[in-house]
Amino acid sequence: MFKKILVANRGEIAVRVIRACKEMGIQTVAVFSEADRDALHVKMADESVLIGPASSLKSYLNVSNIIRAAEQTRADAIHPGYGFLSENAGFARICESSGLTFIGPPPEAIEIMGDKAKARQKMIEAGVPVVPGSQAVMLDEETAEALGEEIGYPLLIKASAGGGGRGMRIAQNVAELNQAVQNAQKEAQMFFGNPEIYLEKYMETVRHIEFQILGDKHGNIVHLGERDCSLQRRNQKLLEEAPASTLTPELRAEMGLAAVEAAKSVGYSSAGTVEFILDQSGRFYFIEMNTRIQVEHPVTELVTGIDLVKEQIRIAAGKSLGFRQEDIRISGWAIECRINAENTEKNFMPSPGTIGIYREPQGTGVRVDSSACEGYCLSPYYDSLIGKLIVWGANRHEAIQRLERALKEYKIEGVPTTIPFHLKVITNPAYIRGEVHTDFIERWM
Ligand code: ADP
Repeated sequence: MFKKILVANRGEIAVRVIRACKEMGIQTVAVFSEADRDALHVKMADESVLIGPASSLKSYLNVSNIIRAAEQTRADAIHPGYGFLSENAGFARICESSGLTFIGPPPEAIEIMGDKAKARQKMIEAGVPVVPGSQAVMLDEETAEALGEEIGYPLLIKASAGGGGRGMRIAQNVAELNQAVQNAQKEAQMFFGNPEIYLEKYMETVRHIEFQILGDKHGNIVHLGERDCSLQRRNQKLLEEAPASTLTPELRAEMGLAAVEAAKSVGYSSAGTVEFILDQSGRFYFIEMNTRIQVEHPVTELVTGIDLVKEQIRIAAGKSLGFRQEDIRISGWAIECRINAENTEKNFMPSPGTIGIYREPQGTGVRVDSSACEGYCLSPYYDSLIGKLIVWGANRHEAIQRLERALKEYKIEGVPTTIPFHLKVITNPAYIRGEVHTDFIERWM
């Protein structure tokens, strides 16, 4: 097993990884930017190294400074968390060539899945259903129109290198197509440095259902059930739950098998997530695979009892999975709310600032993953996540009641938060009935 792990991240996920290491008896190294000198992950780690100024480009994305920090502190492995360098195949390769284990999948798997159009192609070959659509190309007007005709409207134009809900455009009809393609290509170049786009049928009234995968380096791959992440705003997740109320055991088994096949087809190991959209007739379609630990991983941990970060570490150290598919049991219900410093009245505008009073909810079935505290300064340089509130209940009804209680108990002053918005969502009768599709917020809120 590793003796020392460097955590190449900040905020709640850095704290989450450090906690797993402590429980495993592994020493930890935090890295931090000048804006994060007093951050919780720095205080919790055994050692810490300054890697640059506040700007992520010069610190948390600064590969040479991070590798140097690992070498100086004699770390054996690097955990990238989510975001930043977690899905950067080049970084994974540099780790390995510097004699450091990258705690994540093989670089080849990151590369294929990181290019969403290539991933689509790979899934077609593996027999995993994908949304009707095209291959990746630079599209001229004529080809786009021909494809539009073939696939049918409305169409979604996606950037091959896209992520985080960005770089997507809808064209309702052929008249909108050309402009949408032009804009998407421009945007893709600007945000992701790659203008390639592809077309997909835009599916209406769908759910976002994703499967948690764990694979070891010996070819064993299992799924840990699904998460329903349909509650989104502008294609970005706000609230996630496990299991999904719509899945029958048969559909769960079928989708889980497809997710395992998807992972196998790229020689996957470590934790990963295969994302699908599910339509009202129970047909499901692959949309992408995320090759890292996800923000919403705690809901799976609460219903399976499996610590996903510890599993990532064990797998990276070459250990075999300690369970088979039939050993995985889903128990009860878990829901996560992302608590952001955002002004929900003003279009969810990020509102960084200093937190005044801060008191986390406690009690049975409540988990808070956060790096915030009283006097904590949310920096405009990073995302606006204050913390994640995750609850467990014996069933969905109890989980919702507990979530309402815990949201009301969570006191954060000094910055606007998404707590009041979450309260509105989870007390909405349609949410309580489980009628949640990706257009829920536009429709009901
Ligand atoms: P990103 O990588 O930017 O997160 P995804 O491909 O994962 O992009 O899609 C994000 C969200 O956009 C999905 O959860 C879903 O709500 C919506 N979406 C993606 N593809 C489609 C589609 N073909 N039809 C309808 N909605 C879609």
